Amino acid sequence: MYAHKDLQDWQAAWTMFNEEITCSQCAARQPSRLSNTDFIHSPACSRAGKGQRPWEDLMTMLIVPLPQAVGA
Ligand SMILES: [Zn+2]
Repeated sequence: MYAHKDLQDWQAAWTMFNEEITCSQCAARQPSRLSNTDFIHSPACSRAGKGQRPWEDLMTMLIVPLPQAVGA
């Protein structure tokens, strides 16, 4: 349930398309090859800030098994 909620939050904040993650607010993009660097928003974006790693967040969520899948 945790992972599901986090994934919903992620999907509200980001879009992934063509191996790029896009900020849903400012439309700044980050290709997957820069996944280990901080995301850079547009200067005016209300979500701008340091230490945002949407690729790593996504990977972390996707390797956490869903509760229903455990022992299935
Ligand atoms: Zn942004």
